[in-house]
Amino acid sequence: MPELKIAVVPVTPFQQNCSIVWDEESKKGAVIDPGGDLPRILAALEELEVTAEKIVLTHGHIDHAGGAAELAETLKVPVEGPNEADRFLLDDLPSAGARTGIPGRPVTPSRWLNEGDTVEIGGFSFEVLHVPGHTPGHIVLVNRPAGFAIVGDTLFQRSVGRTDFPYGNHDQLIAGIRTKLLPLGDAVGILPGHGSTSTIGAEKQSNPFLR
Ligand SMILES: [Zn+2]
Repeated sequence: MPELKIAVVPVTPFQQNCSIVWDEESKKGAVIDPGGDLPRILAALEELEVTAEKIVLTHGHIDHAGGAAELAETLKVPVEGPNEADRFLLDDLPSAGARTGIPGRPVTPSRWLNEGDTVEIGGFSFEVLHVPGHTPGHIVLVNRPAGFAIVGDTLFQRSVGRTDFPYGNHDQLIAGIRTKLLPLGDAVGILPGHGSTSTIGAEKQSNPFLR
């Protein structure tokens, strides 16, 4: 039986939750948001004996996407996501890297993702939700049968993504969380881009931004 597995590899000085998602039976999977620290990601893949078939990006920030071009080259795999509205951020990764001290190369995904698209990872289907506000092209990946979502920098344990960028929009982010993430159901587990995992139910109850 295919079994969905997830391992988190914190990367960059921002301790971004890069994740490896795979099917334990076939040992095939994907790397989500390889912001940097590629030797650690490659070591984790080797230790887990997982073959990454693609890279998926939730959004274009340096701590999520800075290492994507190099990792795609190293593993010879395609990059999928985010939504094309984040193209300007992916083009700008070298200057974002210079500002933050994280090495970043520009990356152009093989496939941009839109609301309702499906991303296949190791035989598992992840549904794409477009949840802008933190960045214009931010996407969330949901596997409903497993009750699990990779939410990037939209929703955190007791917090939400920052929106104090020129292109940020707090009201849009909160509206997206309310209309797309909360309806996933209380039992759905979330892996945010930073900090602890949580559930939709726990955030409905205790997240001060959702009162
Ligand atoms: Zn971000």
